[in-house]
Amino acid sequence: MGKQAVTVIGLGPMGQAMARTFLANGHPVTVWNRTASRADELVAAGAVRAATVRDALAANELVVLSLTDHDAMYAILEPAADALAGRVLVNLSSDTPERSRAAAAWATGLGARYLTGGVQSSPSGIGKPESATFYSGPEEVLQAHRETLSVLTGTDYVGTDPGLASLYYQLQMDMFWTSMLSYLHALAVADANGISAQEFLPHATATAASIPDFLAFYAPRVDAGNHAGDVDRLAMGVASVEHVLHTAEAAGVDTALPGAVLEVFRRGTAAGRGGDSFSSLFEVMRKGAS
Ligand code: NDP
Repeated sequence: MGKQAVTVIGLGPMGQAMARTFLANGHPVTVWNRTASRADELVAAGAVRAATVRDALAANELVVLSLTDHDAMYAILEPAADALAGRVLVNLSSDTPERSRAAAAWATGLGARYLTGGVQSSPSGIGKPESATFYSGPEEVLQAHRETLSVLTGTDYVGTDPGLASLYYQLQMDMFWTSMLSYLHALAVADANGISAQEFLPHATATAASIPDFLAFYAPRVDAGNHAGDVDRLAMGVASVEHVLHTAEAAGVDTALPGAVLEVFRRGTAAGRGGDSFSSLFEVMRKGAS
């Protein structure tokens, strides 16, 4: 039996990588993109260009969406809403959990089956089994199409709630953007002191490599509400972040990021947590914290 045919709607860097990977693995691919020219190379590589969204939906049961956000999905699919019945929509566009739930309800109401996906890879990781995508929605729908979707990345099923894949994705992005911005900030301070990014790289790498041990240490303590100051104390953290901020200030570098970090640390000490671990900031930041 031949490989399952797939429609890919949305040909930004991610959608292009996905369509290319399906083609490379022998899957017949139909593509549609608002800016039609972005399909040219894929068509040259064997994809079929759908003339309209309606044609793209009619071509295959399995339809992968790779769009900027859910607004783009509604802009594209609402005019062809009556063509969604019987389709399996796999929405690999990022958005919030609430909007993923609303999108699932919308598509399901029109007779489609719907999976949310959160891709944890850059386009260059598509087609590599070590990359992974969070999926949520009806498990039987994922099972029915897992073999095909596995061509893109590993499939990490996180539950029936269509918002869950988005939630896990956003949790990762919450960490990713802040960490990467702190990296750029450190590079700016290094640069102001005549140290290049390349020179700093081994040290930055060592710092990043130390993080998993901290995560593993604090996870059970946070779950248990144990913020004992036996290993670190928030008051020490405040002094440390002040040093970071003053070092940036002296270098003439923007202090918005360490300033924001310091503000949260100081809220912790104002809440009487100075003798507790810095992990007590979890309590300061969580919903309903006073
Ligand atoms: P892009 O934003 O570059 O892709 C955008 C796609 O959405 C294009 O096909 C674009 O069409 C289309 N689009 C946007 N707005 C509209 C609209 N109003 N109407 C019609 N089409 C629209 O994103 P990427 O390809 O980089 O990523 C796709 C998704 O994957 C995003 O949700 C992103 O968060 C996620 N992702 C991306 C990663 C990455 O490294 N790139 C990593 C992990 C996840 P047109 O070509 O006509 O502009």
